[in-house]
Amino acid sequence: MTNFSSLFLDKKRKTDIALHVVTEKSFPGWLKKQSADVKAGMKNLGFTGRAGAVVLIPGGVVAGVGTPFSIYALSPAVDYIRRNFAADFIKGASFSLHGVDAKDLENAFTSWALAGYEFTPYKKPSGKTPALVWNKKADKKRVRTLIESIFMVRDLVTTPSNDMGPGEIEVAARKLAGAHKAKISVIKDKDLLTKNFPLIYAVGDGSPRRPRLIDINWGNPNSPKVTIVGKGVAFDTGGLNLKPTGNMALMKKDMGGAAHALALAHLIMSAKLKVRLRILIPAVENSVDGHSFRPGDVFKSRKGLTVENTNTDAEGRLILADTLTYACESKPGLLIDFATLTGSARAALGPDIPAFFSNNEKLAEQLKKISFTSEDPLWPMPLWQPYNIHNNSAVADMQNSSGVPGDLMYSALFLERFLTGKPDWVHIDTYAWEHIGKPGRPRGGADCGLRAVFALLEEKY
Ligand SMILES: [Zn+2]
Repeated sequence: MTNFSSLFLDKKRKTDIALHVVTEKSFPGWLKKQSADVKAGMKNLGFTGRAGAVVLIPGGVVAGVGTPFSIYALSPAVDYIRRNFAADFIKGASFSLHGVDAKDLENAFTSWALAGYEFTPYKKPSGKTPALVWNKKADKKRVRTLIESIFMVRDLVTTPSNDMGPGEIEVAARKLAGAHKAKISVIKDKDLLTKNFPLIYAVGDGSPRRPRLIDINWGNPNSPKVTIVGKGVAFDTGGLNLKPTGNMALMKKDMGGAAHALALAHLIMSAKLKVRLRILIPAVENSVDGHSFRPGDVFKSRKGLTVENTNTDAEGRLILADTLTYACESKPGLLIDFATLTGSARAALGPDIPAFFSNNEKLAEQLKKISFTSEDPLWPMPLWQPYNIHNNSAVADMQNSSGVPGDLMYSALFLERFLTGKPDWVHIDTYAWEHIGKPGRPRGGADCGLRAVFALLEEKY
């Protein structure tokens, strides 16, 4: 796990490598000031300052970036340094920025840090963490908080399920709450039944790692109430409707919603937004044993609606249903949930654009717009009421899976039925994973929608 402070230095080291940052527009002017050798070298290489291109010159590295300055702009340069420089050299040297405007410094440092991350609990670190000299004109606290939040998502989601069960999700939540002096309470195991969370209990009962509902509260009680819910399925076997091999392989990431909720809480509490924040995380493991809920089982939810479980792999919407009803009891003005809910969200929009739903069109438009300016795209889908027919059951008020293609749509409508009162609601069906590995986005757990939602909250509060 990479520590933010290992990525930056206050002062240059004896060996300092200049990192020249150019755009295609600024490159010709930069080149004019260079030696004849550098001019000739650049010509031979055909280097034009194209975004993502990196070359080595005597005493320095030249990195092309695009306009506007991306939060991943310098990530290719970090990858280049790691590939081409020896570990001992990297350890003894510093890198310093040249040619970055003050307004772009925050993104420059962010893009450096995002690429400096390594997930190391189970293997030896590469020892190649290049350190960039900090520029005091950049807001260090802001960049640090953002990086810590993104690393929190990566660490929590990438950690394998044998070390990240419902209990470990609770530990992470307690650590975060403690760091911000927030109140935390946890309803665990049989108490879920006596306190009326039958769906959370039913899903989690098949695992020896007992289900729980984590509840964090922070901020002035008189401020606008914002509640964030995160799906925390520590591992999803699919239950008795067991997933096939390929579909089960990545299911350690089924607590990605919980990781997003905790990371977002870190951003909100660090920025001291003027909100009354509540974080609710139903943390369970959807596992197989004699206590597992079965296909066809009917449970009465917290709201009183009965649900027939036509598919035990559609468990996320069950634990969210009770949690959303509970969230509404304290009458939040804004209620947002993050969940790795359906495969059909990925079928619709691919891995990088989470689908979202909202019962407030204006809010949806605002979130969509800000998500693209934050380089964290989200795309709105309609809560098409006639599709509610797919959630109808022959024996209960609702069923949790229809088997008809379009589960993304039906799952959102399913959740909507469990709201009470009239909160503005946003449901984000996120992936929380980076498959391929791109500069600044290593393969593994990944933030998908975190920065967009924080930007929205910053604009609102
Ligand atoms: Zn499932």
